[in-house]
Amino acid sequence: MSRKIFIAGNWKMNTTVDDAVALAKGVVESVGPQDDVDVAVCPPYTNLSAVADAVMGSNVKLGAQDVHWEEKGAFTGKISCAMLKAVGVTYVIIGHSEQRQYFHETDETVNKKVKAALGSGLLPIVCVGETLDERKSGSMEKVVETQVRGAFADISPDDALKCTVAYEPVWAIGTGETATPEQANDAHAFIRKILSDIYSDDAAQAIRIQYGGSMKPANAKELLAQSDVDGGLIGGAALKADLFEGIVKPQ
Ligand code: PEP
Repeated sequence: MSRKIFIAGNWKMNTTVDDAVALAKGVVESVGPQDDVDVAVCPPYTNLSAVADAVMGSNVKLGAQDVHWEEKGAFTGKISCAMLKAVGVTYVIIGHSEQRQYFHETDETVNKKVKAALGSGLLPIVCVGETLDERKSGSMEKVVETQVRGAFADISPDDALKCTVAYEPVWAIGTGETATPEQANDAHAFIRKILSDIYSDDAAQAIRIQYGGSMKPANAKELLAQSDVDGGLIGGAALKADLFEGIVKPQ
């Protein structure tokens, strides 16, 4: 089964609106009209509208970094799926380790967000991954399996196919330390096995699994060449159009 590579930039809490428009235009220009790779950029909420305009007519899609599961109401500081749809968002990152670490994200809230996103026609990028302590203590598989099963609880097979999983070992995020291609591929194959167990082998073979954690032009080619690595969720290197291009078109 050949899965189309999907590279998404997670800009995190970086860029003012002017920075974001300039970066988005740079990405559109450098990525060009190619259709071999799916590309998305995920700016902060305040810049979504402006970036939607900047990427309009290109192959670069718009993503958000989080969403709330409720439709509307007294949830100060939160943004709904309908709000994201209304400004042209296609993808939404759910369960990023920084949300889990700093903002009380749990497998239960991840699952609620995934359900709400799918119900609104947004395409979730579901993040999972273990900490360094968890890897060192040998519990990586248990942790990742719990996260995957939690995120996909009561999600239908058809809806699961609309999701991307991002395997992001927490120890590799923003640290400059990257999982080796073998470590990444082993983790991805393990995630695919869980998806096969929950759904079917066909479904598991169709769902894309991105790697995230200090991916950059220098290591992208080798990581993306792995049989179960179907793309990347990129933090730091997504903030410079030329570095991002070097991942979309690795040499
Ligand atoms: C991320 O936060 O999703 C990420 C992968 O960050 P970085 O590329 O900076 O490690």
